[in-house]
Amino acid sequence: MHDTGSPSSLIQPELIRLGCQPADKEAAIRLAGQLLADAGCIDPAYIDSLLRREAVANTFLGNGLAIPHGMVEDRQLIRRTGIAIVQIPDGLEWNPGQRTRLLFAIAAQSDEHITLLRRLTRLLQDEVRLEQLFNARDAAQVQALLEETPPAAAGEAAAADLAERAQWIVDYPNGLHARPAAQWVEAARRHAAQLQVRHGQDAADAKNLISLLQLGLRHGDTVTVSAQGPDDAAALAALLSAMRDASAQEQTDAALAAQKAQLLAAQQGWIPPGHPLSIAGVAASPGLAIGVVRVLHAGQLKVPDRPVALGEGGDRLHEALSATRAELSELAAATASRLGKAEAGIFHAQAELLSDTDLITLTCQLMVGGHGVEWAWHQAVERMAERLAALGNPLLAARAADLRDVGRRVLRQLDPALNSATLADIDGDDCILLAADLTPSDTATLDTGRIRALATAQGGPTSHTAILARTLGLPALVAGGPALLDIADGTPAILDGVGGRLYLNPGEQDLASARDWLQTQQRTQQQQAEQRQRPAITPDGHRVEIAANINRPDQVAAALDAGAEGVGLMRTEFLFLEREQSPSEDEQFHTYSAMLDALDGRPLIVRALDIGGDKQVDYLKLPAEENPFLGMRGSRLLLRRRDLLEPQLRALYRAARSGQPLSIMFPMITSLKEITRLKGWCEGIRRELDAPAVPLGIMVEVPAAALLADQLAEYVDFFSIGTNDLTQYTLAMDRQHPELAAEADSLHPAVLRLIQHTVAGAARHQRWVGVCGGIAGDPFGAALLTGLGVAELSMSPRDVAAVKAKLCANGHDRLRELAQQALACDSADEVRMLARELT
Ligand code: PEP
Ligand code: MG
Repeated sequence: MHDTGSPSSLIQPELIRLGCQPADKEAAIRLAGQLLADAGCIDPAYIDSLLRREAVANTFLGNGLAIPHGMVEDRQLIRRTGIAIVQIPDGLEWNPGQRTRLLFAIAAQSDEHITLLRRLTRLLQDEVRLEQLFNARDAAQVQALLEETPPAAAGEAAAADLAERAQWIVDYPNGLHARPAAQWVEAARRHAAQLQVRHGQDAADAKNLISLLQLGLRHGDTVTVSAQGPDDAAALAALLSAMRDASAQEQTDAALAAQKAQLLAAQQGWIPPGHPLSIAGVAASPGLAIGVVRVLHAGQLKVPDRPVALGEGGDRLHEALSATRAELSELAAATASRLGKAEAGIFHAQAELLSDTDLITLTCQLMVGGHGVEWAWHQAVERMAERLAALGNPLLAARAADLRDVGRRVLRQLDPALNSATLADIDGDDCILLAADLTPSDTATLDTGRIRALATAQGGPTSHTAILARTLGLPALVAGGPALLDIADGTPAILDGVGGRLYLNPGEQDLASARDWLQTQQRTQQQQAEQRQRPAITPDGHRVEIAANINRPDQVAAALDAGAEGVGLMRTEFLFLEREQSPSEDEQFHTYSAMLDALDGRPLIVRALDIGGDKQVDYLKLPAEENPFLGMRGSRLLLRRRDLLEPQLRALYRAARSGQPLSIMFPMITSLKEITRLKGWCEGIRRELDAPAVPLGIMVEVPAAALLADQLAEYVDFFSIGTNDLTQYTLAMDRQHPELAAEADSLHPAVLRLIQHTVAGAARHQRWVGVCGGIAGDPFGAALLTGLGVAELSMSPRDVAAVKAKLCANGHDRLRELAQQALACDSADEVRMLARELT
């Protein structure tokens, strides 16, 4: 939006009346209208148009300001654009509960009045200046207060530098993006002086984040920084030092990115020769997919246009903005304490976007134009984001993503229902589905005939969505950030589920290389697949059991065909999801029996219900918890909900009467007390049903269980380590956290040490240890676990062939040595680099 009217031509002393006391709203509007008519701006008939508008819309803007304006269809009654200002120091009731002290009657032929509207919206937030305006004694003072130069609007280049100036060369490897820009703004705003940053012909107000970002500064650009005003020398020095201070952080970030690339090479991932633009996320499900992007985002959200009175709309917008600011500041504080100040900066930067004058003005204008607040806000955000995205600069495109992200936060505040999008909207073939996040049930029901890969802005690699993607064989990345959702629908892309990147608009060379890579992969997979039925025995004769993580009897045949030797984890909570009520004891009995029958004598380990965390079951009406992963989850819930535990155990023991090899294990065990109570339940039910004893194990998912493994082992028959949860609880990183996902790596040496401790504890009582978390299905992870002494690995069936191939190719002694090396590493990345040392 550009200012098209010169401020001084709009605010004229003869159109200002001070100290008025009109009897009512109509008298006030007539007075303002008369001023406009007397000055030759309107035909007197337009005064009625001003009054008619009041009958259909509320022109109260908030904080004592009202902006009466005529009906659009009466525009021919306007002779020239003008604005009449009527000051009512004692205030006048405009609508019940709304008092106007200053009214601006607008007669606008086109959009010249936008300059004034922009100032008014800024004024709404500036109580000191408002008070001065309400009490001004002469027209010149009103004029001066209103004409104070606004910040340079986006896109308005000011080529001249200010009085004090200096040059600086941008040394941020990724150019100027939101986080350092917000630091510049913060430093600039501490000073009264006007501060400007100029690059070539383009200049930006250093106190305005969007205007700075629109400069699109890249590494190596020279900028002229200048200041003017009372403390200009100090202001200039402070801004320059903020610019330099951000350099170190920017360079560290870039170095980390380079390290990641090295890591990718170690993992033998695909590296595109043409360096197409890409978005980085976290690898969640391996494979490469070539396709076109289909975005499932709030842009497809139908934001309804529900006009409300302007005042009410303004109040709701104000509240939503405040609530979002509070939400962002909480997020920033939480991020600062978890990750550090620099990482929290992005949320400060997002909060800055909320105060952007252009954005708020545009929203107010759309509301004044008769639109509903949600619609107006959404439109304003989309228009500004499109403008940023259209500049063709990836950095600014990412800012557009931030703007949309923050825009959605505000929309959610305005109407919580404006938060969803539906998979049914996705059509076409060879789709690479992009979404903010997907629920496990969304993922489970994806049409894999058309959807080739998926990428989510949020989520983590061990979230259940990622697990399901692996099961479905869909390459996936998670935690790609909000920029993902700003990619245009239909953009050709390549998704790399090993490197965790989405490459956009790949060139012919990239496509050819991706096809080659896929072919090589297919050949390797084919070779591995041909040998998938062999046991996993290392060349020096050490055997590891390979089992599948599956949940339904109809998946057994495929799992066995994939080379699985049994089922190491049947997540029974999936029997409880996506339905209206819990499955009955009989229904469960039939499912477990069918599972055993399909396995035909091979082992089945059924995990008792693990509800809670990210697996919520609405009909159970469990109380909402502040920290569901730390709350009533898994066995903790089972011990409190006999109605869930008892039918499940009865169904399991009834199935065990067939004599087939069934084991039961309990999730989220933290203490011996839980084990003894659960075993008590099992024994009671077993006796009642006269069923055989079955092996009872526990999942080791909490550091407490790993640390006490030597004690717990005495009471259970086996351990199965749930590395997905063990990782999140060891590292204190939510397995679904979008920003922490990359670090929440199960190969973290701290997690490996807990696994080693568990194996050692179990060995004291001759118990076996399995791993059924995601890392068991990563061939390199499986090799390390074998080196640590894990005896059984349970994984998604599609991972079986590759894991077997890795174990069959590397000697147990070598794996043991490698595991010792991994235990001595200081980071998961360092552990992953060891992958180079295996065949
Ligand atoms: C785990 O935590 O590693 C595990 C296998 O359980 P789930 O992923 O179902 O929580
Ligand atoms: Mg778990």
